[in-house]
Amino acid sequence: MPTLARLAIALATLAAASASPALTINYTFLPGTSEQAQQAIRVAGAQWTSVITTDVTLTLNFESGLRLSSGVLGTTKSMYIDMYYSDLRSRLAQGSTSAADALAVASLPGSANFGRLINLTADNPAGAGSATPYVDHNPATVHMSAANARALGLQFQGNESPGCAAACDARIDISTRYAYDYDPSDGITPGTFDFVGIVRHEIGHALGFVSGVDSLDVAGTLRPAGSFTGVTPLDLFRYSSLSAASHVIDFTADARQKYLSVNGGLTMGPEFAEGEVHGDGAQASHWKDGRSIGAMAPYIQAGVADSRITAADLLALDVIGWTVSAVPEPAPMVLFGAGLAAIAGLRIGRRRGDGVA
Ligand SMILES: [Zn+2]
Repeated sequence: MPTLARLAIALATLAAASASPALTINYTFLPGTSEQAQQAIRVAGAQWTSVITTDVTLTLNFESGLRLSSGVLGTTKSMYIDMYYSDLRSRLAQGSTSAADALAVASLPGSANFGRLINLTADNPAGAGSATPYVDHNPATVHMSAANARALGLQFQGNESPGCAAACDARIDISTRYAYDYDPSDGITPGTFDFVGIVRHEIGHALGFVSGVDSLDVAGTLRPAGSFTGVTPLDLFRYSSLSAASHVIDFTADARQKYLSVNGGLTMGPEFAEGEVHGDGAQASHWKDGRSIGAMAPYIQAGVADSRITAADLLALDVIGWTVSAVPEPAPMVLFGAGLAAIAGLRIGRRRGDGVA
């Protein structure tokens, strides 16, 4: 038996080496994760690896044996890496593979620092903690998930700190509090949640679909702007019409409309959620709720299959450094936000966990 097992591993290695470039996920399952859950997790992971062609290997820990807070189906805790903004810009330029990438890189300021619209800070010129946005020209670093950093060519050891059983890039937990349907191919049983969809969504966070605005969007904390160093690569394409008018990104926590733009805010792409506390009630690390934008929407409801990976999801990953097989064209992006009917009924949040400083 040991010989057979070794042979199987050797064959698998050969197959991997001869395949065309692709994202590979090493799955690590923590105790309490059933066979059924493991199978569904692999199905969800395969939906990402089938559309991302960046040749890196991620190690993700999965766990579905913990009861998370009420209203939370899943969490993702990533290891985070800080990088100079100018380094990120060069890496994005080197890895540019699509029309959207080219536009996105061209929209990034060529200086060592970038500007952002921000509010609620202790040093807000309009008064400490004021909700009035102002431009902060100081940021010179960005903060990204380990997986996002690997997409940009960084090589480093995995981390054991956010609960990884062994070195990992992210740990994803799915709560035992709710009932799940593990097979979405025949619909989702009423009263249960789409397990594959939840995992697919959480992997999206691990890949870097995260906003640092969630670190600003908290109640009762007064800190200077300089302490909010959690601007993610995705945030470099986060705009409002107000921030676009000042030629800076929008890092505010308020209910102003925020959207992805690959051309410095001129063209409005899919809309982002605005924040749980000061925004629309959903974490900023998501698309706007109720617009059917994609897999990174903040809420899902029981009995309904979750959104598959859409062109909007892929566009976001494309501009933060991933190479995606189906490259979305930037021109029709404005259509992604077009109002589809809001989903009614019970909704349960999916949190990304505490990853952003
Ligand atoms: Zn989420």
